[in-house]
Amino acid sequence: MFFASDNASGASPKIFNAIIAANDGYALPYGADDWSKAAEVRVSELFERDCAVFLVPTGTAANALALAAFTPAYGAIFCHDDAHIMDDECGAPEFFSAGAKLVGIPGSLGKITEAGLAATLAAYPRGLVKQVQPAALSLSQATESGTLYSVAEIAAFSEMAHRHDVAVHMDGARFANAIASLDVSPAQLTWKAGVDVLSLGGTKNGAIMCEAVVFFDRDRAADFLYLRKRGGHTVSKGRFIAAQMLAWLDDGHWLELARHANEQAQRLASGLRIISGVRLPWQPQINEVFAVLPSAADKALKAAGARYYDWGGRGLEGDGRLKPGEVFVRMVTSFATRPEDVERFLDVAGKAVNG
Ligand SMILES: *Cc1c(COP(=O)(O)O)cnc(C)c1O
Repeated sequence: MFFASDNASGASPKIFNAIIAANDGYALPYGADDWSKAAEVRVSELFERDCAVFLVPTGTAANALALAAFTPAYGAIFCHDDAHIMDDECGAPEFFSAGAKLVGIPGSLGKITEAGLAATLAAYPRGLVKQVQPAALSLSQATESGTLYSVAEIAAFSEMAHRHDVAVHMDGARFANAIASLDVSPAQLTWKAGVDVLSLGGTKNGAIMCEAVVFFDRDRAADFLYLRKRGGHTVSKGRFIAAQMLAWLDDGHWLELARHANEQAQRLASGLRIISGVRLPWQPQINEVFAVLPSAADKALKAAGARYYDWGGRGLEGDGRLKPGEVFVRMVTSFATRPEDVERFLDVAGKAVNG
């Protein structure tokens, strides 16, 4: 019953075996190997466009370096108040851009709004010498609340950002889960909706360490090789990252893994909804379930060894706020989540409140 996060699970055997297969023999380092070249072609095919693709081992590196490519040291990067780049990356976006400022935009359910973006862009006009200059908008898809932007929402934000000469970045640490849930193509969810650069995450969806920075316009990636190397993220035995990407994308494996994770979240949510005293403040759209639990259920689950994070009161609004005797928690399922573990979790929670 390990629902702390999706990066708490191991790797998909198919991906693990691909690493073992790549271990045979010699290959040129720093991305000059056949696996890296093939992975770049494969990612371009996936997005139905000639992309510039750069593999990196962590999502933080992907985000920070991608944003640095579009943001001068005196630039502003706009994102949701709770974005991973804002709260969970130890200043890496600021560091790699040599000092840019992150500007938060509020919004329910982990999502920015058009009004919020418009107000923020108005507060940071280009040419006002005493302020940082608008450079990039970062959208998390899926968001840190496990919610999704529709293609139309992304297109509207991109249009507004581009009108202000602001580039659009997508933090796709859970991009696979988003695609599996929305049933749209990777192209529709990104460049066709105006996204300029994507952090494509494989690690949380079955890889060991495999992320890609995907530029949809090659010209804008001209200097990225140097940014990545200077940032210490040009992996010398690059074939091992590339082998993961190839296995992840082979034959729809990435979507198979994401669908399983999403389905287990739905199973968990359906079961929780019918336990008295349990509330789901918003419906899960990917592999993350946020729930208000009666303390009795929380205690029984923890005593039974279940693992998940206490989410404080983050994101709860109005009548949905925590009452005495309740806790708010986040549960994340993964490609490896077993249905029987979800059922056991529901059983323990149900018995705790029904006696
Ligand atoms: C996990 C995650 C990342 C990447 O984190 P790393 O630990 O650096 O790989 C980026 N963005 C979001 C939204 C995430 O959940």
